[in-house]
Amino acid sequence: MSKRMVWKHAVVVTLALSSLLIAQQPRPATGPKTEDKKTITSAEVEKLTGEVIKQVSEIRGLKLITPVKSGAQSRSQIEQMVLKNFEEEYTPAELDAEFKTLVAFGLVPKDFKYKEFLVKLLTEQIAGFYDPKKKELYLSDWNGLELQKPVMAHELTHALQDQHFDLQRFDKWPEGDGDREMAIHALIEGDATALMIDYLMKPLGQSVTKIPKKLLDQMNSESNAPGMEVINAAPNAIRESLTFPYGYGLGFAYDLLKAQDWDGVSKAYTNLPQSTEQILHPEKYLANELPQKIELADVTALLGKGWKRINFDVNGEFGHYLLLAEYLDKTVARKAVEGWGGDQFAVYENAAKTRTTLVHLSRWDTANDAAKFFDAYVARTGKRWPKAKLNKTAKQFVYVTPTGETLLELRGEAVLAVEGVAVGSARKLAAKLWESKGGK
Ligand SMILES: [Zn+2]
Repeated sequence: MSKRMVWKHAVVVTLALSSLLIAQQPRPATGPKTEDKKTITSAEVEKLTGEVIKQVSEIRGLKLITPVKSGAQSRSQIEQMVLKNFEEEYTPAELDAEFKTLVAFGLVPKDFKYKEFLVKLLTEQIAGFYDPKKKELYLSDWNGLELQKPVMAHELTHALQDQHFDLQRFDKWPEGDGDREMAIHALIEGDATALMIDYLMKPLGQSVTKIPKKLLDQMNSESNAPGMEVINAAPNAIRESLTFPYGYGLGFAYDLLKAQDWDGVSKAYTNLPQSTEQILHPEKYLANELPQKIELADVTALLGKGWKRINFDVNGEFGHYLLLAEYLDKTVARKAVEGWGGDQFAVYENAAKTRTTLVHLSRWDTANDAAKFFDAYVARTGKRWPKAKLNKTAKQFVYVTPTGETLLELRGEAVLAVEGVAVGSARKLAAKLWESKGGK
């Protein structure tokens, strides 16, 4: 999945999407004016920091321990920052592996310009960011100062989070733990987004918890951001991965706020969310429902000489939703993954770098949940490869597709998929993969 790639930078980013949330709220009398568009200066941003931090600190119930440095950045400076982050955090091989994973899952086209697109997308979306390494905060200079006040409140929340809970510890997260990493990221962004809304609503004597949860859920299903061409043109999986931490993270923070106020949100930095499932269903976080661990057997030897594993990770409930939503109705997709229990996927590549094979194994809460996902994945595969030749039994589907053989199999509470292997070898791979930890 692309999520690791897409959002790792977004730890420091505030989506302009946040302004969509704001747009749906009643505005304070001093609220954003659309004509307020002149370039803002670093001196203005510094002054604003001093004003906003008091309110943010008071609402959030966290003291400012050290002053926060801040300034304004132009579009080209922000683009440079995004590029630099890419170069610092990803080797070209890692970036390539992420891209090939997306292609293997059928989420972006083969000729997609992945890095260029992400840089453009993030540059468009950044209204401000907090850099936990430098302990500095920047606002984009092309939005007017009034419009940037809530963004400032959001970014200052990150500064407070960093001073109290240490955000840098999440920077170098272990490989293959992407679903948990994304859940933590959703906590961080959901916290700051909820605070931002509280900041806007406070002058009206209101608070974020007064917004009906239904309205928040509705925002998560609206996918178009007016006036944002790049994000509107983004492949669905990339767009939804980018907005997940803000939209669903807000829903998560909302439930913690309702249960235990801001203290409950603060405690989540000690008792971290463990999966996107817990973010999507905060009651599962509160009930401590933990993901099951899957460790796929290594199938390098079965693939042949020169093949290498180039990527592995956990898709999580959210990732499984993305896989289905690419080809099926989103509501159907959402329902079909609700019984997610745990999973792992791996992507292999041949020596010539001309072919990839994808394997993934998931476990579900009940056999019924597994069957539900299996049926949906079969439907999705039929849509992805409408002309594929199919050989099937009730619980095993074997397709011949333009990328090779694809096998889908349901066994009890588990679903296995082997996609894009040499024709005639999928069953052999499947037999080995069923021996994985979590396969039986
Ligand atoms: Zn943020």
